[in-house]
Amino acid sequence: MNRILVAEDEQRIASFIDKGLRAGGFAVTVVSDGPAAFAAAMSGGHDLVLLDLGLPLLDGFAVLQRLRQAGNRTPVIILTARSGLNDTVAGLQGGADDYIAKPFRFDELVARIRLRLRAAHPAVEVTVLRYGDLALDVTTRRAAVGGREVELSTREYHLLETLLRHPGQVLTREQLLSRVWGYDFDPGSNVVDVYVRYLRRKLGAERIQTVRGAGYRLTEGGNPAGR
Ligand code: CA
Repeated sequence: MNRILVAEDEQRIASFIDKGLRAGGFAVTVVSDGPAAFAAAMSGGHDLVLLDLGLPLLDGFAVLQRLRQAGNRTPVIILTARSGLNDTVAGLQGGADDYIAKPFRFDELVARIRLRLRAAHPAVEVTVLRYGDLALDVTTRRAAVGGREVELSTREYHLLETLLRHPGQVLTREQLLSRVWGYDFDPGSNVVDVYVRYLRRKLGAERIQTVRGAGYRLTEGGNPAGR
């Protein structure tokens, strides 16, 4: 569960954000002045800070500056009044990751939070497409069938990726041709059939089903002995 620190002195807004984020599955800590925001952020344990600029005792800019000076790299999204946008841009240069102007729509706030959390933890992005015991890593371009690694050429990779993004769905030759080879390719070409054959040889013939008069469909396979 992601933990969000909310530094906002306006009770109404703080409680609106608190309730909304909890309902969205976040753990939330709310503080209402600058020193408390700094102390809570420095204590660690938060994945992101929502920082109001107009905080009592120590304003949001000062809190942010102290955090960054202290080496704290927790992502910070600044909450600001629309009238203070120019100041906010200065805040971004001072080490904030993003800002959102009040009043804001809650879904917009959550979208920004999720975006920041993803940027901070790129490893949680889905990079492996799976279907049955077929796996394709789109960053390393490695394929595996039942744990066995399979070497693919560039075209084979693109063809398999396209099929894997539409598992169980029939894709026509024209769709595959335009997605894998580009629109310029001669529609009368048989390259799709040729490359489907290559992939079948590498993955197992049962993986790619010919749907007569329609195109090709990736199947889960799973019964290699009984075909
Ligand atoms: Ca305020």
